[in-house]
Amino acid sequence: MSVDLQRYSRQIVLREVGVNGQSLLRDSTALIIGIGGLGSPASLYLAGAGLGRLILSDRDHVDRSNLQRQIVYRSADLGRAKLDAAADNLRALNPECVIETRPGPLDEAGLAAAIGEADIVLDCSDNFPTRFAVNATCVAARKPLVSGAAIRFEGQIALFVPGGPCYACLFGEHGEATETCEEAGVLGPVVGVIGAMQALIAIKALLGIGDDAGRLQLWDALKLSWRRLNIARDPRCRVCGSN
Ligand SMILES: [Zn+2]
Repeated sequence: MSVDLQRYSRQIVLREVGVNGQSLLRDSTALIIGIGGLGSPASLYLAGAGLGRLILSDRDHVDRSNLQRQIVYRSADLGRAKLDAAADNLRALNPECVIETRPGPLDEAGLAAAIGEADIVLDCSDNFPTRFAVNATCVAARKPLVSGAAIRFEGQIALFVPGGPCYACLFGEHGEATETCEEAGVLGPVVGVIGAMQALIAIKALLGIGDDAGRLQLWDALKLSWRRLNIARDPRCRVCGSN
């Protein structure tokens, strides 16, 4: 199948993409865990960019309180399963992108199967148990993982690749305090920026451009400032360490 030169013209014109890069994207599969505030912009941008296949996983239904920031949904989607609503809206955006849905929560086997089919994984979930399970499965399957999180006026993103530090090297056994956006609040554009960055990092990783792996990018949405920290690999990490 040939590439739709007109649809993707603004990115094909980039020297770093070109027709070859566009074909690479068309031949790629991304798994997106969680289609909420982060997964909405991430899935929209990846579908728009012409990824060949997106696998979506989520467990929720569209709630009125989601519409403030979860931009893949419309008011008409209220009460629908998020997977059905997101799949319809992503197909409407780009019929060339194959959308598959895996109702969550995925058990260990389901997660391993979904990650096994993906070239890259985007963790857009909102809880630490899921993040740790996704990380461990990505490490075992040697798949790159784009991790993102946002709350209040803060966001963070990191790309983890095989052989480098993993999410558990950074956050140890349990992660930070498990606050939720329901309790702590968040502005829509804050998750929008972080979700869009996850799509950007995923596209760059698939194209083999940029140098994002092993760094934690922290965003202060009040000051509009970014901080970048190198993540050290923990040789005693229970997920990627040698023990
Ligand atoms: Zn590790």
